[in-house]
Amino acid sequence: MALVVPLEQVTIAVDGSDDRFPVRRIYCVGRNYLEHIRETAGADEREPPFFFQKPTDAILPPGEDFPYPPVTEKLHHEIELVVAIGKGGANIKAEDALDHIYGYGVGIDMTRRDLQGIAKEMRRPWEAGKAFDHAAPCSPLFPADNIGHPDKGRIWLAVNGEVKQDSDLEKQIWPVPDAIQHLTQLFELKPGDLIMTGTPEGVGPLVAGDTVTGGIDGIAEISVNVV
Ligand code: MN
Repeated sequence: MALVVPLEQVTIAVDGSDDRFPVRRIYCVGRNYLEHIRETAGADEREPPFFFQKPTDAILPPGEDFPYPPVTEKLHHEIELVVAIGKGGANIKAEDALDHIYGYGVGIDMTRRDLQGIAKEMRRPWEAGKAFDHAAPCSPLFPADNIGHPDKGRIWLAVNGEVKQDSDLEKQIWPVPDAIQHLTQLFELKPGDLIMTGTPEGVGPLVAGDTVTGGIDGIAEISVNVV
């Protein structure tokens, strides 16, 4: 008998199917759009991509409310393209990367910006800012077999109907195949991994009562109530 109740496998709905995608890990790309680097960091704009993780059970399924998290006065939204890995591998070359992708979705990298700021300043890890409960609202996944492999298209987010983030996937500094090449030098990907591929400029605060909507043309839309 197990000492504690085992964690239920986290899964995400697949559009047009009863299948569910079992999530193994959630990798996130830091700083992948130039204008977002300029608004938040003043960091080196040519440095290679870096990665952090959110816990698998931070996924907030479609249709569920997002509870405003504790210990922050600066919760920020970051709209992102989500890549779902169907075939694993290490040291994947960019030109082979699309073969490893099952599908795509839209996610929000919820961020306690004040805690992330303290972590940056004190050279501490980012978990308090990025890896809290429910910090990864995600749309259903759309298989690449149905929608292809989008490398451009409007990516946007609105708060209470007012557009805050409005860019295009083609502005990614490290497009998905390049991000996968870099990521798999560090970690072997497995089926079930998700990659959140970074956010464009326009990040900003959310408060309880806000309705957040967003999407990527040709992929999916997402809607989340902050409660
Ligand atoms: Mn992000």
